[in-house]
Amino acid sequence: MDTEQLTQKILDGDRRALARAITLVESGRKDHRAKAGELLSELAKHKRQSLRIGLSGTPGVGKSTFIESFGMMLTGLGLRVAVLAVDPSSARSGGSILGDKTRMERLSRDKNAFIRPSPSQSHLGGVARRSREAVALCEAAGFDVVLIETVGVGQSETVVAEMSDLFLLLLAPAGGDELQGVKRGIMEMADLILVNKADGPLKPVATRTCADYAGALRLLRKRPQDPEGFPKALMVSAVEEHGLDKAWEEMQALAAWRRENGHWERRRADQACYWFDQEVRQALLARLETPDAKAQMAELAGTVASGGKSPGEAAQIMLQALGAA
Ligand code: GDP
Repeated sequence: MDTEQLTQKILDGDRRALARAITLVESGRKDHRAKAGELLSELAKHKRQSLRIGLSGTPGVGKSTFIESFGMMLTGLGLRVAVLAVDPSSARSGGSILGDKTRMERLSRDKNAFIRPSPSQSHLGGVARRSREAVALCEAAGFDVVLIETVGVGQSETVVAEMSDLFLLLLAPAGGDELQGVKRGIMEMADLILVNKADGPLKPVATRTCADYAGALRLLRKRPQDPEGFPKALMVSAVEEHGLDKAWEEMQALAAWRRENGHWERRRADQACYWFDQEVRQALLARLETPDAKAQMAELAGTVASGGKSPGEAAQIMLQALGAA
C-alpha cells in the first residue's frame, strides 16, 4: 500500500491500516522511517485532535481493570477509544503486560476500541518516539480519547505526561506512610489522582488515602494550567465501576477549562518543543554509540587516564570527530 492509500485509510478510521501504520512507526528500518515520516506529515495536515489521557500506576494497582471499565464506559457514551502503552523496560513489567488485550477482554472486543500493546524495546528514547507517533496516528484515525498507559518506573511518567493532555495517577488504598512513597515530582504531574479499589473492605482505607492525597495536593504550588480545585483526588472502583463517571466529568471539565483559557494549545506547543529538543539530544547521543565513536572514546579515555590529555582537550577532539564542535 502506498503512503497516499494508507493516509486515506487511516483518516477513514480503518483499524487494520492503523495497526499497520503503528507497526511502520515502530520499525527501526531506514526505509520504514522515511515512509513513516511521510505518512505522519501527511496526516498532521488534517489537524485532528483526540483527548490524550496519560495513566500511570504501579503494577497491581488496577490499571488494566480501570482501562477496561473506563474504556467501556466511554464507548458506551458513543466515543471511540484507543489504548496505547509506554513500557520503558520491556514488554513485561512486574508480571503485567501493558496494554495486554487478554487483560482487557471486553474492551478488546468492542469495535469502538483499539488496543495496542507496548512494543518490546529497551531504549526509552526509541519507545518515546514510537509511542508519540502511535498517538498521532490514533488522533488522525479519529479516536475521541487516546489512553496512554505506563508503569511508575524511571522516566516513563515524564514521557507519558509529555504526550498527554491530562495525566492521571492511579493509586491503591494504603496506610498514611505510603503517601511518602509517591514521589513529589509524580504528584506534581498529576491532574487527577484516582484512588482505586474503593470497594468492599478496602473502602474505609480508600477514603482515608484519598483524603490524605487531597491534602497533599493542596500543599503543592498552584499551576497556571489549573482552575480552582485542581489537581484533585477521587475514589474509584474499577471492579464495581464506581466513580468512573465522576472522574470522566472532572476530566472533561478540566479539559474544557484549559481549552477556554489557552492552556490546551500552549501545552501542545510546549510538548512539540520538548520533543524537538529530545530528538536532537538523542540523535547527538546516538552518534556516540557507533563502533567508531566508541573506539575513539575508549582511546581518548585512555589518554586522559594516563594524563596525556586533559578532559577538556580530549572532549574537544572527540566533538570535532563527531562534527559537533
Ligand atoms: P495493573 O497491574 O495495574 O494493570 O492491575 P490489574 O488491573 O491487573 O489489577 C490487579 C489486581 O487488582 C487484580 O486482581 C484486580 O482484580 C484487582 N483490582 C483492580 N481494580 C480493582 C478494584 O476496583 N477493586 C478491587 N477490589 N480490586 C481491583
